[in-house]
Amino acid sequence: MAGRPDLMHTIQLQGRPRVERRANVKYVGCHWLLDCQCYLACSPIQDNGGQAASGTQAGPEKGDTGNPPILSWTRARAFTLIEVLVVVAIIAVLVSILVASLSAAREQSRRVICQSNLQQLQKANVFYLQAFKGIFPPHRFEAYGDPLADNTGEKHWFHLLGQYARGKELPHCPTLKWDVQQDANTWSWSYNSKNIGYGYNAFFLGLYNHQDGETCRTYIEGRLWWPENRIKRPADNILLGDSNPKPGGDWSSTLWWPYINRAKEGLNGTRHRGKGGNLVFNDGHAEFRRTKSINPERDNTDQYIRFWDPLQRPKPSGP
Ligand SMILES: [Zn+2]
Repeated sequence: MAGRPDLMHTIQLQGRPRVERRANVKYVGCHWLLDCQCYLACSPIQDNGGQAASGTQAGPEKGDTGNPPILSWTRARAFTLIEVLVVVAIIAVLVSILVASLSAAREQSRRVICQSNLQQLQKANVFYLQAFKGIFPPHRFEAYGDPLADNTGEKHWFHLLGQYARGKELPHCPTLKWDVQQDANTWSWSYNSKNIGYGYNAFFLGLYNHQDGETCRTYIEGRLWWPENRIKRPADNILLGDSNPKPGGDWSSTLWWPYINRAKEGLNGTRHRGKGGNLVFNDGHAEFRRTKSINPERDNTDQYIRFWDPLQRPKPSGP
């Protein structure tokens, strides 16, 4: 670019290019975003000798008095309020998208860990079956005086499986790290039948050792003991799944088929940010299932009973 050196911008080639403005030149058209190209875009309109800003030599302009130069140049334009707000809004949108994506990814990982927990509990159950001649563990049994017994003097299925697994660690869905808001109540995980958070298909599989003639014996051929080798299709038969405390605040430890509708005893469908929950089946596979494909809409119907009843019978007669 030809012209007088005192009228030209100086471009620094190292680091951020910027323009050095000479004190004796008034530039118009400079913009903060255009500093690096400013030597092309700016138009000096006044210099100390009344010279034009172009690269060619020019004579004194009209009105040039030959006096010393006047220190004047246009001030670089600052951000306007609108520009700042637009940038802030864009950053806020990007951050909200990023946070939502990270939150979803974290919950997805927790869902996978939950399935792993359930599968390891199923393996613990296999060890239990081998030790007890193929009979499934009771969902509750009297254990007065035992330090693990709850306030009713009972222990539960997870206490029995705990000796083949890692105690309190596995029966803990990782999404239950914080308080859970359920309807009007708040609850949090604990190692007892109220708040364990994993329910056992105990109505069909678990021994219920209370001798009052209720439920299991009435529905299933008068048997208290259920052998594992009679399961028709282990890949269809639920063992454990995500479960919430029931409306009274108890029994998150069970998935109790006769009361799925009236007492919300079915698979919990809200824990893992979806309309379903995790289940493990008696063949050892775990999956996330929509509650609409597992929980019957009405109690004591044939709907989905093939996933609950190990013999996949139509609804048994009885109360
Ligand atoms: Zn879970």
